[in-house]
Amino acid sequence: TMAHAKAVLVLENFIAGKFVPCSSYIDSYNPSTGDVYCRVPDSGKEEVEAAVKAAKNAFPIWSSKSPLERSQILNKLADLIENDLEAFAQAESKDQGKTITFARTVDIPRAVYNFRFFASSILHHTTECTEMATMGCVHYTSRAPVGVAGLISPWNLPLYLLTWKIAPAIACGNTVVAKPSEMTSVTAWMMCKLLEKAGVPHGVVNVVFGMGTKAGEALVCHPEVPLISFTGSTLTAQRITEKSAPHCKRLSLELGGKNPAIIFDDADLAQCIPTTLRSSFANQGEICLCTSRIFVQRGIYSDFLKRFVAEAKKWKVGNPSDPTVDIGALISKEHLEKVRSYVKKAQAEGARVLCGEGVDSLALPAGNRKGYFMLPTVIAEVKDESCCMQEEIFGPVTCVVAFDTEEEVIERANSVKYGLAATVWSSNVGRVHRVAKRLQSGLVWTNCWLVRDLNLPFGGMKASGVGREGAKDSYEFFTEVKTITIKH
Ligand code: NAD
Repeated sequence: TMAHAKAVLVLENFIAGKFVPCSSYIDSYNPSTGDVYCRVPDSGKEEVEAAVKAAKNAFPIWSSKSPLERSQILNKLADLIENDLEAFAQAESKDQGKTITFARTVDIPRAVYNFRFFASSILHHTTECTEMATMGCVHYTSRAPVGVAGLISPWNLPLYLLTWKIAPAIACGNTVVAKPSEMTSVTAWMMCKLLEKAGVPHGVVNVVFGMGTKAGEALVCHPEVPLISFTGSTLTAQRITEKSAPHCKRLSLELGGKNPAIIFDDADLAQCIPTTLRSSFANQGEICLCTSRIFVQRGIYSDFLKRFVAEAKKWKVGNPSDPTVDIGALISKEHLEKVRSYVKKAQAEGARVLCGEGVDSLALPAGNRKGYFMLPTVIAEVKDESCCMQEEIFGPVTCVVAFDTEEEVIERANSVKYGLAATVWSSNVGRVHRVAKRLQSGLVWTNCWLVRDLNLPFGGMKASGVGREGAKDSYEFFTEVKTITIKH
């Protein structure tokens, strides 16, 4: 009966400082139970049009504020999100399937930090100046915000990645229309509720919810949105590039990865094994930076594999809101099926599945049996040409293979279409430098993983992206530069 029906959360678009209902909605699932628990606006051209108009109207006032004024507002917003950290973490975990621990310690603190970081870095940029004494000239550059920025983000780190775009965009004086993933829209909607209190003027941040092919494409095709910052899959990026080409838009594309970990025989395994488990399985393996190809030097291969598998088996899969759980639910039923299909393909090709999917059994609490869960899975003896070693799986699946020489492993690590992140494990400083320099990868971590300084460029090579984001890089992306020459 109706009395027993659970209340479904209904989101609204946020346009010109107001929540506005939409004429149709998309069902959003709780990945850990399989229930529909939220309805997300199914926005299209009309809603995007209204949001772009609001952003355009807000631009003159926002762009003429000083960096210091904008900085204070960003800091206020950071404080407000931090005050509600627990509520945001609970919502992110429920919406995405990630563990409450990960949401509490990674997603929401990083979303807060994104605002604080850009609130600070916007105060410290300098522009260039050169002198041409023989001509009696000085040249200097001046930077100005571009206009309305279109921001499109994925479902794996919802608020974390959305704020990584909103913060630099508005810090630089742009106004924005953001389109979060239709699968994880709740925390963006919660953030909208705090904007007014933080002092963000109406129309500076507009959020339009809905499908990529509908709301996302309307934003990409809008003639008055001159720049798009996109994080998501390589396939979608190709589509966005095509659709935006007639308008010659500026694009920042942060895409998928097939990230190698290279483990030399002089690696400190006591550090390497726990970190490589995290780099393979954190957030259910749903991080663009996750390791999915582990190359281990022959001499330590069997020892590594034995210890790695034994530790992987200890990872607890279950209810994401249980703080002792290490792996929550995958984002959707379709995604779970896709991830599982890779394990089946590997088996069919003769690879060995050492633990996890199809090998061990998964015991779930009664309330989670319809959720999209999977055990951390380790595959060995898989060929470099296999789809498991070439394609992004984006789940808790990692492949372990042996190698002999430095030269060989560099070539094998580079032999995929992606180039986002790599990790190198060795205690030989010379080797670490040599290998890092030759890897085709936007980021190389040696003897660690996911240690980030937001000042430095973030982004991928090859099919992993176009452009970089970071303090200076985001500033350059979100501003237009002008060279001015003064003759005296
Ligand atoms: P996706 O490409 O399916 O969707 C990303 C966003 O784009 C969503 O908001 C979606 O609605 C929208 N979208 C889809 N089609 C669109 C279209 N035609 N026009 C405009 N927008 C469209 O990606 P996903 O499945 O949400 O995310 C997972 C992918 O993101 C993985 O490949 C992962 O590696 C990648 N990722 C990359 C980074 C990075 O920083 N490099 C970070 C996180 C995730």
